[in-house]
Amino acid sequence: MITSQPLVRIENVTKIYNTGGILNSRPVPVVNDVSLDIGRGEIVGLVGESGSGKSTLGRMVLRLETLSGGKLSFDGQDITNATRSEMKPLRKSMQVVFQDPYAALSPRMRAGDFVAEPLRLHGLSGRLEREQRVAELFSTVGLDPTLMKRFPHEFSGGQRQRVCIARAIASEPSFIVADEPITALDVSIQAQIVNLFKELQQRMGLSYLFIAHDLSMVRYLCDRVAVMLRGRIVEIGPAASVFNNPLHAYTQALLSAVPVPDPDTERTRQRLLYDPAQHPPGERLEEKTPGHFLLV
Ligand code: ADP
Ligand code: MG
Repeated sequence: MITSQPLVRIENVTKIYNTGGILNSRPVPVVNDVSLDIGRGEIVGLVGESGSGKSTLGRMVLRLETLSGGKLSFDGQDITNATRSEMKPLRKSMQVVFQDPYAALSPRMRAGDFVAEPLRLHGLSGRLEREQRVAELFSTVGLDPTLMKRFPHEFSGGQRQRVCIARAIASEPSFIVADEPITALDVSIQAQIVNLFKELQQRMGLSYLFIAHDLSMVRYLCDRVAVMLRGRIVEIGPAASVFNNPLHAYTQALLSAVPVPDPDTERTRQRLLYDPAQHPPGERLEEKTPGHFLLV
């Protein structure tokens, strides 16, 4: 029997930070006992209010951050305590796309050189070979290869994010953490970038942890959705199930804030508010419908 082991396995992962400043510094779990598998070719969306621990979880999964507790595996390999040099061969396979492409780019580096950098690091040594590959990558992400010679300030926001995506896929990874990759972009081009993510996923069989604010994009793109609240996953399930039948009061409140395209429904849309005082924090995830879990 072939067991399809998940690509990423997150088991009871916790991150504790000291917060509150020097005088009243106290340890606070910003990610608290999170478990989540990401399958090969699967897109998992991660949503939740600002400060709920999404980026911290994303950084830990890539081991850009240490874990305070729990276990992490990538492609069957335990990377919970992997050192920098142990992570190096895996860096090729796991990449990241950030919210702000301008900050990610180097202002004095030509876009083509920026995309070529990981190729050099991962052993594509010939200059001409590299240049050709960069041109291919530019086409893949919808940029004219002649733009290789340009500097970051000569691009639009959407083009800059395409450059960052080209760099992320340069080493042919199997997994990408995309941390709010469209939040900083004009609304008019957000859908184009989401479509690019979708296209690349289909073409390369990629897996994503897609951290996002915009729930309609998550619904469109993701296979499964996890909802984070104050460091914990309070609900997780197939995207259709979570969106059509949100179980947690917090998820219901999040969804009630999303405008709907139908004007009649939109006019009568009621915004729900989530009051944490009225809800116990919950202890464990319970499966309510197939694959759809609620923290109870
Ligand atoms: P999100 O991405 O959901 O907005 P973050 O993961 O960025 O949330 O942050 C979660 C919490 O952890 C926040 O309260 C933030 O202030 C805190 N935090 C993040 N990084 C650090 C750090 N390096 N040191 C202390 N606290 C941190
Ligand atoms: Mg964040």
